[in-house]
Amino acid sequence: EKNGTMGGDDSRILVFVRLRPMAKKEKEVGSRCCVKIVNKRDVYLTEFANENDYLRLKRLRGRHFTFDASFPDSTSQHEVYTTTTADLVEAVLQGRNGSVFCYGATGAGKTYTMLGTVDNPGVMVLAIKDLFTKIRQRSCDGNHVVHLSYLEVYNETVRDLLSPGRPLVLREDKQGIVAAGLTQYRAYSTDEVMALLQRGNQNRTTEPTRANETSSRSHAILQVVIEYRVKDASMNVINRVGKLSLIDLAGSERALATDQRTLRSLEGANINRSLLALSSCINALVEGKKHIPYRNSKLTQLLKDSLGGACNTVMIANISPSNLSFGETQNTLHWADRAK
Ligand code: ADP
Ligand code: MG
Repeated sequence: EKNGTMGGDDSRILVFVRLRPMAKKEKEVGSRCCVKIVNKRDVYLTEFANENDYLRLKRLRGRHFTFDASFPDSTSQHEVYTTTTADLVEAVLQGRNGSVFCYGATGAGKTYTMLGTVDNPGVMVLAIKDLFTKIRQRSCDGNHVVHLSYLEVYNETVRDLLSPGRPLVLREDKQGIVAAGLTQYRAYSTDEVMALLQRGNQNRTTEPTRANETSSRSHAILQVVIEYRVKDASMNVINRVGKLSLIDLAGSERALATDQRTLRSLEGANINRSLLALSSCINALVEGKKHIPYRNSKLTQLLKDSLGGACNTVMIANISPSNLSFGETQNTLHWADRAK
């Protein structure tokens, strides 16, 4: 196998970048666009440098990045889904686990990409729609069972977004780490899902000082579990389970500033332990380390069976085009670059 890793190149993290359109507010204050995407792969940060001089930008540190694909601001929800997640849905239907993350600063477009709107549904909804289409195509015996869970990690507390209440306790059992009492919603069709997820999203914790606004420190995790029976070569019936995790991460702006310090020294500080722990796990996976520090946070414990190893992992880095967000954009691109 290539690089001595299981599954060779198959198991590497796929990294994408999505640029959102300039917002009205950004236009009103006269901000300029500082991001150019060329050939659906190359991302250039053009602020302070000679615009359009790509050869020069390529030689400047931190100004040119390249990813598995980069989406300009005109890219449709459907194209983002097809390029980033469709293959993963197929793999999950073969009994594998996989996860898709949206990473980026608050306001960069993570929730739009993951959840979307009623008119423009995002990856979560399109994945479930595709899943039901594929299930219908492949079987007439109706032996596939689909369950959805939607949960939040906020301040290292796990909550059920489908049935809000007391925090959930994480337990380790034979199947791995589970959130005790988490709602497993049995889904029969796509139609019910958008409303369900939007309601769940409204249950995300809001910052006390910014009522009605979703906290930038909340991670939302949608887990889709597909169970079905197949016959093996000797006609024995076996149970297969595949799990797809779709994660709308907390805003990266706080974590980035403190990335260099250790988790321990950050205890009690106003940063996001789960986001830092995820970064550590991804770095360890990329470097091919044997020990992956899943235990360091609630988020990484919950995703232990869906990240690394034989799992398919996809990262979508969301960025704003405005020069006012130049620093955050550069940090996000740098982070995404290290996940490759
Ligand atoms: P985040 O979840 O990263 O904080 P949002 O997804 O809430 O950011 O996006 C911020 C704003 O920008 C929202 O009003 C959202 O509708 C809009 N937006 C984000 N991405 C796009 C896009 N690709 N096309 C159109 N509007 C977008
Ligand atoms: Mg959001």
